[in-house]
Amino acid sequence: MASLNDIRSTFLNYFEREGHTIVDSSPLVPRNDPTLMFVNSGMVQFKNLFTGVEKRDYVRATTAQKCVRAGGKHNDLDNVGYTARHHTFFEMLGNFSFGDYFKKDAIPFAWNLITKEFRIPKEKLYVTVYHTDDEAFNIWKSLGVPEDRIIRIATSDNFWQMGPTGPCGPCTEIFYDHGEHIWGGPPGSPEEDGDRFIEIWNIVFMQNEQFEDGSMIDLEMQSIDTGMGLERIGALLQGSHDNYDTDLFKALIEASAHATGVDPFGDKNVHHRVIADHLRSTSFLIADGVMPSNEGRGYVLRRIMRRAMRHAHLLGAKDPVMHRLVPELVAQMGQAYPELARGQAMIEETLLNEETRFKKTLDRGLKLLDDEVSGLAEGADLPGETAFKLYDTYGFPLDLTQDALREKGLGVDQPGFDAAMEEQKARARAAWSGSGEAADATIWFDIAEEHGVTEFLGYDTEHAEGQI
Ligand code: ATP
Ligand code: MG
Ligand code: MG
Ligand code: MG
Repeated sequence: MASLNDIRSTFLNYFEREGHTIVDSSPLVPRNDPTLMFVNSGMVQFKNLFTGVEKRDYVRATTAQKCVRAGGKHNDLDNVGYTARHHTFFEMLGNFSFGDYFKKDAIPFAWNLITKEFRIPKEKLYVTVYHTDDEAFNIWKSLGVPEDRIIRIATSDNFWQMGPTGPCGPCTEIFYDHGEHIWGGPPGSPEEDGDRFIEIWNIVFMQNEQFEDGSMIDLEMQSIDTGMGLERIGALLQGSHDNYDTDLFKALIEASAHATGVDPFGDKNVHHRVIADHLRSTSFLIADGVMPSNEGRGYVLRRIMRRAMRHAHLLGAKDPVMHRLVPELVAQMGQAYPELARGQAMIEETLLNEETRFKKTLDRGLKLLDDEVSGLAEGADLPGETAFKLYDTYGFPLDLTQDALREKGLGVDQPGFDAAMEEQKARARAAWSGSGEAADATIWFDIAEEHGVTEFLGYDTEHAEGQI
């Protein structure tokens, strides 16, 4: 059985044979790009090639790109633990053309790889095209795909954008039907969010650029940008619809089971899945130089770490767990990503420090949360005051509290939380203008940091629903 490491190589070698240069993944923190929190797709490192601002000595490239989707336009943090196909960290396999080949080569490249090289049965495949894209429709038809399996989609699902601005374009996507035993419907149907019809590959026809003022232009060059999730194609080729059943995830889940002494079956399975997922995103972020902090990228990292730690707690772990799983991750992925192996000691230390710190308040905070929840009237939200207390005194990021409540079908009174946050800021401001003592200055700087967080997240969520 081909491992994820084998599949990654097969992909890169296939496109190398087709004249593509194999280019390393870029780091997860985008260089000079304030519009993006983390690299969320393969095209990010090539943005300037699509717009023609930059030229390199190749016009075809192929990559396995590290991606994190835990904020911004593409945010999958809340999908982890709930779907079979989403991670916060994943690898996107891609091939790119910079003004070289376009639709009529890009589609056959993808089709040949999956039907000939990977031998995926054609009768399990469906494709989508942007509703007005007759050219793509006809190319699929010419390859023998029956018309009733070429679905026209008019939503942003078939017009790809990395973020609020930048190169973008209509796309065509390939889906695999994992069978009736799994809930879900074909793309465009009301049940499309299920895990039966899984999107494996997105082929973007880069021909537009979106600007901050909302205007969009046609680019001079027509280019190609594609992305296929390694874990999704891996699951498929390993006979499952579930990314967490792949060789790599099984090894991580086993490590988590071993470290916590809890079998990864039944209702405990979900905790191991979240831990395995969050282990990857946190470790790769640390390897790329992100450190837990109270603002910006560092705060996203901290939130993911703390969410994972709550799941370890739910498995009954008394001592820090996450750092103990790093050796297995390095064994699995350290060869493909040497920065992971190089950073191992730092990753372990950072995880251990954070978990040791958070442990002190996690248990007490969860107890407070449980007590509050048991006192709630049926269907009522957790009062914002309580969520704020958990945040302020116990170090619970709001999304951690929401994550904990979601399992019980409950939510947080968010306006109440925001009001409590505002009140604290106002108090701090009043104290500051009152005296100017050093102690007040410390508070002020803490608040300023928090304020920064809110700004950053606010900026991102404002664009979260950005459409074409
Ligand atoms: P979905 O609709 O399933 O959320 P997407 O449309 O958001 O996927 P794209 O932005 O088109 O995904 O990214 C290209 C490919 O990357 C997808 O076809 C999929 O194979 C993979 N992918 C996207 N998001 C994730 C994720 N969170 N975890 C794992 N793989 C992913
Ligand atoms: Mg998505
Ligand atoms: Mg999609
Ligand atoms: Mg897609």
